[in-house]
Amino acid sequence: MLNLPVTEIFSSIQGEGPYVGARQIFLRLPKCNISCPYCDTETKVLQKFRLETEPGSRVFEEMDNPVSLAKLLELLETFDFSIHHSLSVTGGEPLLWVKELQVLFPQIREKRLKIYLETNGTLPNQLLEVLPMIDIISMDIKLPFAGQSFWNVHESFLRNSLPKEVFVKIVVNEDTPQIDLENARDLIAGVNPSILTILQPVTKTRGINAPNPCQLLEWQSLFLKKLNNVRVIPQTHVFMGQL
Ligand code: SF4
Repeated sequence: MLNLPVTEIFSSIQGEGPYVGARQIFLRLPKCNISCPYCDTETKVLQKFRLETEPGSRVFEEMDNPVSLAKLLELLETFDFSIHHSLSVTGGEPLLWVKELQVLFPQIREKRLKIYLETNGTLPNQLLEVLPMIDIISMDIKLPFAGQSFWNVHESFLRNSLPKEVFVKIVVNEDTPQIDLENARDLIAGVNPSILTILQPVTKTRGINAPNPCQLLEWQSLFLKKLNNVRVIPQTHVFMGQL
């Protein structure tokens, strides 16, 4: 019997990207293979995970980690699948748990709930192991930071994603170098210029500020020179007060 450590489970409104406003069940898993400077997510494996008892209540039941996949399915089914668009599997980086997800995903889809994967787009081989069971891929392109860049793995990941619905999200701030944006744009254009690309202004954190209105317009124009579908969408759950 496989077990999986979990960070949190709740029902809420998707706040990012083209599915903004959709009702989803969120399954957040711990651990990440990279360390983004603006990360505000708990990625450690904790002794307990939290399950919101009523959507929006901020009342959480604490449960022991790791949880068996059978128990996890039971917990997920306490939500009414019929009113949810999909199960948003997020992190951390969920593809670090691919062995467990290979078992969980088919059981979710059997109950007619779609799988929406939120990923940092850096584990292309792991993606292939669960690709047939995924409906929608929300892939981040991480711009270089702290001397690290991810261009090659991102390109492989995006190519591997093509059999599925995939969109790319790029978080930008007031100091994002234009050369990084050009490289990201060219990477996407080289795979397929019709891939929906979201520029997401960072939500202000630890002295990292969102771009100003002129920067956003200029950067969207820069992307639109080579891509067909480029939208600017901030994190809307923040101003809706959603988790
Ligand atoms: S990929 Fe996501 S979870 Fe991992 S460090 Fe970056 S923002 Fe945090």
